Amino acid sequence: MSRPRRVETPYPDPGTPEAHVPRRPGWECAGCGLDWPCLDRRRRLLAEYAGNRIALAVLLASYMMDALAERPDLPAAGLRTRFLSWLPRRF
Ligand SMILES: [Zn+2]
Repeated sequence: MSRPRRVETPYPDPGTPEAHVPRRPGWECAGCGLDWPCLDRRRRLLAEYAGNRIALAVLLASYMMDALAERPDLPAAGLRTRFLSWLPRRF
């Protein structure tokens, strides 16, 4: 018989959706530390906005504008790629 394992972490479990939120103003993922939106968040956004890619594009563009304002040290073209280029043409 094994006891349930209890793990104390300062951040939410990276397997939960709420873990993969942007840590601002740095714009890295609070869950996995990668550039936000990370792969996990991209997958979740695509599932959440399935059939409504215009709304997703608008949402991501607004995040990109925030990131442009908060990270003037990052090139705008790179932020555009990071926030928008991974969107499929249709989904
Ligand atoms: Zn993440």
